[in-house]
Amino acid sequence: MKKLVALTLAAVMTVSVLTACGSKETAGSSTPAEGTEADASKEGQDVSKEEAEPEAQEPAKEEEQASDTEGTENAGEGSVSEALADGVLTVGTNAEFPPFEYVDDNGEPDGFDIALIKAIGEKLGVEVKVENMEFDALVASIGSKIDVAIAGMTVTEERQATVDFSDSYYDALQYVIIPEGAEIATAEDLVGKTIGVQLGTTGDFIATDDIEGTTVSQYNKAVDAVNDLINGRVDCVIIDKNPALVFESKFEGQIKALDGAQFDFGVENYAIALPKGDADLAEQINTALKDIKADGTFDELVKTYIEN
Ligand code: GLN
Repeated sequence: MKKLVALTLAAVMTVSVLTACGSKETAGSSTPAEGTEADASKEGQDVSKEEAEPEAQEPAKEEEQASDTEGTENAGEGSVSEALADGVLTVGTNAEFPPFEYVDDNGEPDGFDIALIKAIGEKLGVEVKVENMEFDALVASIGSKIDVAIAGMTVTEERQATVDFSDSYYDALQYVIIPEGAEIATAEDLVGKTIGVQLGTTGDFIATDDIEGTTVSQYNKAVDAVNDLINGRVDCVIIDKNPALVFESKFEGQIKALDGAQFDFGVENYAIALPKGDADLAEQINTALKDIKADGTFDELVKTYIEN
């Protein structure tokens, strides 16, 4: 993987630590969010952004591209991205987000995103290796532990400060899961509530930043938030539409998933998070994505994993 990233990573991690700390409260449940990556990155905190960013990022990038051109056989026009140069695309995910990613019966990550990135890997002629990690650690790990991340990840300006995104491949919306029969129906009803979220997600940001007087319980695994909802430890859970619907059917009769439009939540777009500045990788992945859409593979995956 990449050399230049060591320097930029310090800056990335600092951002990640700030993000993790910006949220209100860590869940006091059986499986509270531990923020392993955030903890690990604390060592990096004393490297200030000013030190790490200005000289490190841009020149290193040019150097890297130059060495690609020299060192690769098919250099020139289609020069190979450094992330792909070893023939392996290491992909980070958080397999706790069905139907986009989950651990299958054999203990392997599977789901729409996993199938999609494998199809992309096939188009690019590289092996895809999937690393299952905490969602909150994904962005900071791009360029070190992983090349890219696919995890039902919403494109946000905050994330764009540290990573690039592929073209968007799916529209999403936050939903609100409530216990069956609970009286929550509008944005007003969420004020002052105890809300379960997955740590570092857009649902977390909404609960923490956009709704007044909330107590936010953050979990690394969405299902733990849902279990605490059923146990009465939180009033509702804010999570993306498709996982909300999966959980609703899994815990049928106990919980209800409410459309985020009722709460005026905005539309979100999922995309693959990429190392910042690797234009070649972005282009190759976007081209593969277009091909996969054009040849019907994408629709097949939607049918298999999302609309089944
Ligand atoms: N779409 C949400 C986000 O990007 C949640 C993703 C997830 O939990 N895997 O924050």
